[in-house]
Amino acid sequence: MVIFQNVSKIYGSNGRQMTALEDVTFSIGQKEFVSVVGKSGAGKSTIIKLIIGEETPSKGRVIFGSYDVNKLKHHELPQLRRRAGVIFQDFRLLPNKTAYENVAFALEVAGRPQSDIINFVPQALEMVGLKDKMLNFPKELSGGEKQRVAIARAMINHPDMVIADEPTGNLDPVNMWEIIKLLMKINELGTTVMLATHNKDIVNHINQRVISVENGKIIRDEANGKYILV
Ligand code: ADP
Repeated sequence: MVIFQNVSKIYGSNGRQMTALEDVTFSIGQKEFVSVVGKSGAGKSTIIKLIIGEETPSKGRVIFGSYDVNKLKHHELPQLRRRAGVIFQDFRLLPNKTAYENVAFALEVAGRPQSDIINFVPQALEMVGLKDKMLNFPKELSGGEKQRVAIARAMINHPDMVIADEPTGNLDPVNMWEIIKLLMKINELGTTVMLATHNKDIVNHINQRVISVENGKIIRDEANGKYILV
């Protein structure tokens, strides 16, 4: 599903350079649930940006599904991004659209017909337990509810993989566990999940593969791993 081959990422140009990733190699198979852990600044978001082609590696190769990410032409990137549903800490909902419209928008930009929107958007919102709040605007939703809208939006195109970048960073513990349970359910139903987090309790609870990143390097990669503080 994802292959990183000797990937390095250096931000900046001459003078002010920052090595965010250094010679990183790993692969993620279909239907895996992988947590990527490490302190702030370790390189977690950079890994995600490289998968979805938001950044290009300075060295090495990134494969996502059938795509050699950095060989894609600009106009091919939206195709790739529909195969990966991304969820962020700050939700990134459109404030002037309702929950329904936020999810519908992901189908509209994919060029899907109105009949798909009418059929699939309520289903997706039901899956995340938000059918009753379909017509609410983001400002009328709690943090946990906003994140559930974001998950419905990420799932609406049936992606091969859901990538969550600190999705619970802005949530209280109750909502945090709701979101984690939802990601685990999505994985059980067959979608690959990558979760970047620095929350030790979450990673230990999930009890699946853990890739630990420190200063841009993978320092540990374990099945049924724990978050070990170093
Ligand atoms: P994490 O997600 O683990 O917090 P990041 O991947 O965001 O880490 O960042 C890794 C390192 O790269 C950090 O030192 C960060 O400051 C740096 N970095 C990230 N994005 C940029 C950028 N656009 N320009 C320069 N440095 C960056």
